[in-house]
Amino acid sequence: MSVDCIFCKIVQGDIPSKKIYEDDELIAFHDIHPITKVHFLIVPKLHVNSLAECEIQHQALLGKILLLAPKLAQEQGLQGFRTMINTGREGGQEVFHLHVHVFGGGATLPKI
Ligand code: AMP
Ligand code: ZN
Repeated sequence: MSVDCIFCKIVQGDIPSKKIYEDDELIAFHDIHPITKVHFLIVPKLHVNSLAECEIQHQALLGKILLLAPKLAQEQGLQGFRTMINTGREGGQEVFHLHVHVFGGGATLPKI
């Protein structure tokens, strides 16, 4: 838990979210500003600033996040999806609590 972290506040239930999944270690909810028809975030309950700050003790947690992505994508009706982890300001990260974006649905995703 980090004070003034918006995702910690969502984890604590202090800020509402459109939650689609929760277990003892992870939470997933729809992005407040979706950029595709389906756009949700998978977030560990543990506060870690970014992927760059993950260490060996986070290995299982990172694996759990990735394995959850296809399960939730399927539940959201997606046939395929894209994942993204913005890391650091130069990597476009705005919320400094590790999270994985999952995008899909509707319009074709731009090729990168
Ligand atoms: P990033 O640039 O990877 O740090 O992305 C942070 C994402 O969090 C953005 O896509 C925001 O739209 C999203 N976001 C910020 N605040 C909230 C919130 N309260 N509920 C859901 N998504 C949020
Ligand atoms: Zn946090």
